Amino acid sequence: MSKGASGPFSRTLHRRKIITAKVIIMEMKFRFLGGADTIGRMGMTMEWRGKTSLFEYGMSPTKPPEYPLECQRVDNVFLTHCHLDHCGMVPKICGRDDTELFTTPLTAEVSEIMMNDSLKIAKAENYPLPYTKGDVDRTMRSVVPLTFGDTIELDGFDVSVHSAGHIPGAAMFEIIGDTSTLYSGDLHTISTRLVGPARAVDCENLFIEGTYGGRVHPDRRDEETSFLNKIAEVTDRGGRVLIPCFATGRTQEIMLLLRNTGYDMWVDGMGRSVTRLYSNYPEYLLDFKKFKGAKRAFQEVRNPNMRSHSAKGEVIVTTGGMLDGGPVLGYLRELGKNPKNAVLIVGYQAEDTNGRMLLESGCVMMDGEPVKINCEVRKYNFSAHADHDQIVGFVRECDPRNVIFMHSETRELFMEDLKGDYNVILPKLGEEFTLDV
Ligand SMILES: [Zn+2]
Ligand SMILES: [Zn+2]
Repeated sequence: MSKGASGPFSRTLHRRKIITAKVIIMEMKFRFLGGADTIGRMGMTMEWRGKTSLFEYGMSPTKPPEYPLECQRVDNVFLTHCHLDHCGMVPKICGRDDTELFTTPLTAEVSEIMMNDSLKIAKAENYPLPYTKGDVDRTMRSVVPLTFGDTIELDGFDVSVHSAGHIPGAAMFEIIGDTSTLYSGDLHTISTRLVGPARAVDCENLFIEGTYGGRVHPDRRDEETSFLNKIAEVTDRGGRVLIPCFATGRTQEIMLLLRNTGYDMWVDGMGRSVTRLYSNYPEYLLDFKKFKGAKRAFQEVRNPNMRSHSAKGEVIVTTGGMLDGGPVLGYLRELGKNPKNAVLIVGYQAEDTNGRMLLESGCVMMDGEPVKINCEVRKYNFSAHADHDQIVGFVRECDPRNVIFMHSETRELFMEDLKGDYNVILPKLGEEFTLDV
């Protein structure tokens, strides 16, 4: 062997070795386990400098739930925020392997509520449980809390944390080595009533969500005004207003918007617990004083007996946001009978949900039966995501070399605006791709 090593192949062998070593050091390798060309069940691995990191591991709370591809053991997990499509499957990794979970403390706390709730739903619906309550507990013990402005040194690279402006506690991660890579998670670039906007970060590689590819939001203030006018119109005619809301973010955004209106207002469901949690984290809220005012303006439904009072209120804000579970169905059964009342939809309604069915056919499924809803139904846009033009603007401000679109069913629509100036990548589910450093 030693003779061969000094023979004519030795130089080639030696050269090959160097090239291989160069490849290992110089490339970042990525693979989407979910959520590349869909909205939901996010998951992406990054292999760099001998470490494998997982960015998010979520689930789509459809019936039955949909999960990302299997994930092998990783060295680190980064979680941007607590929506189930991002956090829902993290316990499967961190619970199984005790992997460190980097996230903001608020995201960790709300995620725990979401994870336990999704276990509860899986049990009630007889779906196989993807992990156990013990996994959720172990996941919480693996949390390394980070906040906006923090930079930590990991083995091989640094990570900085920035606000994503999506919901309180939502983060973007900047991975810094010879090159810098920003992973946006879900983001918004305008100031809502609840959180300030995401700020652009100079980077070489930008992983960005494209939920609203091809669509532009109406003006936020105009939308707020027509929403408030509608509530005034309904209450003036003696009706009551039901506002189904997602527990995290939308409930509190709507409470802030309504805080000075003086109606008899109630908040019910999981949104109530999340609101309480938010009160412990003023640093993640745009205006804590206004937030406290909003909380005071609403009466909390603390137990089911109180619903006989809250159902008579003028405004009821309650989970679930897509009318598929939670206290909202009880209210809808009651309020839906009277044409004077109104249901105001303020969030995205996925396919095959009661919310979508209500908007399209005026019916919802209750106890397995379609029920006609006779009150007024309206939809408003209070999105917590940047729209097409805002995403394009954000990309231009970050001015990266590579733009990688994810969390989108319409991401090719960004091509026209960006392809001349950037290397736009639309990764496919399960396919590995590399970026040079
Ligand atoms: Zn989200
Ligand atoms: Zn999302």
